[in-house]
Amino acid sequence: MSGDHFYCLDPHGELAPELFYEYEGITGFVFTTNQPDTVPIYRWMRPGDHFYTADPTGELAPELGYVSEGIGWYMYPTQKAGTIPLYRWRSTQIPDHFYTTDPNGELAPALGYIAEGITGYLYPSQSSGTSALHRWMHSDMFRTFIFNNTITAAQRRTLLERHAFAYYRSGICNNLNEEERTRVREAYRRAITHDINTDPNANASAIIGGSQIWVNFDNLFPLGDREIAQSLLHEMMHCAGYNHPVRRNTDVPGDGGAYYNSPPLRAELCIAGIQSDAGTTLLSLAPYAGEPRACPVVSVENQP
Ligand SMILES: [Zn+2]
Repeated sequence: MSGDHFYCLDPHGELAPELFYEYEGITGFVFTTNQPDTVPIYRWMRPGDHFYTADPTGELAPELGYVSEGIGWYMYPTQKAGTIPLYRWRSTQIPDHFYTTDPNGELAPALGYIAEGITGYLYPSQSSGTSALHRWMHSDMFRTFIFNNTITAAQRRTLLERHAFAYYRSGICNNLNEEERTRVREAYRRAITHDINTDPNANASAIIGGSQIWVNFDNLFPLGDREIAQSLLHEMMHCAGYNHPVRRNTDVPGDGGAYYNSPPLRAELCIAGIQSDAGTTLLSLAPYAGEPRACPVVSVENQP
């Protein structure tokens, strides 16, 4: 937590992904419109810091050069049944305000942050009429990624956002063991080059142990957010050095066999959880060879 923390209702993080913010999960659940007894939380920004307060005049923000960005969300100014406090901290080292429901402030005290009280009260889990408040942190971690110049700005933004989500999920995923988790997260710190794959039978491809991912945008992007994140994490597992055998027609999701139990396939389960939606998730994971869902592993001699 070494940079600006940004909180928003947009599940895609507004501009955060392309500004090299790292996704840090859901802080809690808040209201998107005014409700009985709620107050607006106003959002302010100056380069390097986002600041949120219930004070309509922004406390000291205007005189410190912060620009108003309107209302971020709505929450209770006093505690209601089922809600918990959102604590505010301020760094003494960098221009960062940090908000967390952890009464101990996570790592904030150890990093020189000062407690600044409670901003409001929110729900720790989904409650009727609430939306997730997403947290991002400026860590510069995807700044090393490289994108071929035929990849559009919009495609690049989606790739960064889906990588950020996949990276976050890989860190909390029980389907990967500690070594697998560490290795793929280390791969995310490398300069991974993104290029275009035109193989009609591929969603994406990568070289085992390489630093390059090829994406077939025509095949992959129409499949939606979940599939994009699954495929990117799968290919990042290849970059981290993990392989899988060619899928046989007898391989079945969940069979524990060499294909479905391989690290890249298990990593795909990190994206959407495990058993609850395993039916739809697993069916789309890994197609029969020759069908458009396959991940054809390419060798160094056989690049697209
Ligand atoms: Zn693969």
